[in-house]
Amino acid sequence: MYHCASDFQVNGKESVITALVTISRDQHCISRANISQAALKVLYRLKDSGFHACLVGGGVRDLLLGREPKDFDVATDATPEQVREVFRNSRLIGRRFRIVHVRFGREIIEVATFRAGQTEDPGERLTENGMLLHDNVYGTIEEDALRRDFTVNALYYDIRDFSVIDYADGMQDLEAGLLRLMGDPETRYREDPVRMLRAARFAAKLGFTIEPSTRAPISELSGLLAEVPPARLFEEVLKLFLSGHAVASFEKLRQYGLFEALFPETEEALATQEEEFPHTLVLKGLENTDARVAEGKPVTPAFLFAVLLWEPVRLRWLALQSEEHGTYAALQAATGDILERQVARVAIPRRFSTPMREIWTLQSRFQHTKGKRPKRLAAHPRFRAAYDFLLLRAESGEADPRLAQWWTDFQAGEEQPASTEETPARRPRRRRRRRKPAGDSA
Ligand code: ATP
Ligand code: MG
Repeated sequence: MYHCASDFQVNGKESVITALVTISRDQHCISRANISQAALKVLYRLKDSGFHACLVGGGVRDLLLGREPKDFDVATDATPEQVREVFRNSRLIGRRFRIVHVRFGREIIEVATFRAGQTEDPGERLTENGMLLHDNVYGTIEEDALRRDFTVNALYYDIRDFSVIDYADGMQDLEAGLLRLMGDPETRYREDPVRMLRAARFAAKLGFTIEPSTRAPISELSGLLAEVPPARLFEEVLKLFLSGHAVASFEKLRQYGLFEALFPETEEALATQEEEFPHTLVLKGLENTDARVAEGKPVTPAFLFAVLLWEPVRLRWLALQSEEHGTYAALQAATGDILERQVARVAIPRRFSTPMREIWTLQSRFQHTKGKRPKRLAAHPRFRAAYDFLLLRAESGEADPRLAQWWTDFQAGEEQPASTEETPARRPRRRRRRRKPAGDSA
């Protein structure tokens, strides 16, 4: 935790909106030893080329909290073109606003030019609902600070004298563990509704409290998320659920009525469930995800979305089965329906939605434990993920735990357990040639 913010040095310079506070190097906890070499190189090289360069955003916030930053962002008064001239190993990216990526080996440092949040005619840059369309007007560092979202995200680490610059009382909020939007919260949410998700995300990740006036408009404005491009929401969902704090994110999102904006059908299923398992499955799945992240194991969006959307798929599957479809066809149709409706909200790129659907559709094939089918299923490229999913279903009381156990034993190469031997052996229906006796599951 940050403990050295109590004796601020106020420079005395007042701005229209807030006072500038500079915390000198001996009064804060940031050490260059905790900043990546690449970020330091970028900062020093910009400074030596005559530009003002600072570390900003989550990197500064996390360093002050004694956490390891996910990445380091640099803000500067150099234009993107000037940044490109300083670094040969860089390229311009971004459509919404232009930033420069400077690459050192595998590490990329994002360099952005100070931008202003306000122009003479803000109406030009807003939609009917007040959503910000363009955000690429260059400005001073102070303007750059004030267009950021939360006060704790608007702190600058200045490479000239290693001080922290604070235009918005971010240090006080950091110490108090508060997420406070700068400016009028409703206006800021209308400019960019994703800020509501960011509030929930930082509350989950940092264990911070959302300050009351920042929290108040959320329930009323959560519907604005419907106007955010689904592709952007996909990126946000990954940050919410694949960064090691999925359970906390889920709880915060539900607490503030935001989960519904992302996963309406899942929310409906959770709200109307009669038995315990849908909630349990989502929670267990997210707990597993968090545990894997903590252990440094890989996590995939395909499995995450399979978990989050399973309950709507299952309900649809049940509904369709009672009609003319067979079990497998009904499941396939159900996955198609749910996916189609979901991607209108949160995009799921095909490289994830294809394996996600396989994880789902393989669930109906686990029922076949006779003959050659188990072996064939086990050879499916998505078998492992689908089996993990079956375990999750069994753990949460939705699938038969004996079936899950059968597949566990099957993989361990053990004899088929007694419970399945009780069912009379059936001949596989479409067997072309008889090579081996049935029961090739060892
Ligand atoms: P982390 O990287 O740990 O998820 P972060 O605070 O660095 O958190 P980023 O999305 O990397 O978040 O953004 C970097 C900085 O850019 C933020 O700290 C904030 O100052 C600013 N920022 C990002 N998104 C917004 C937004 N939607 N509105 C206003 N400012 C934003
Ligand atoms: Mg960041």
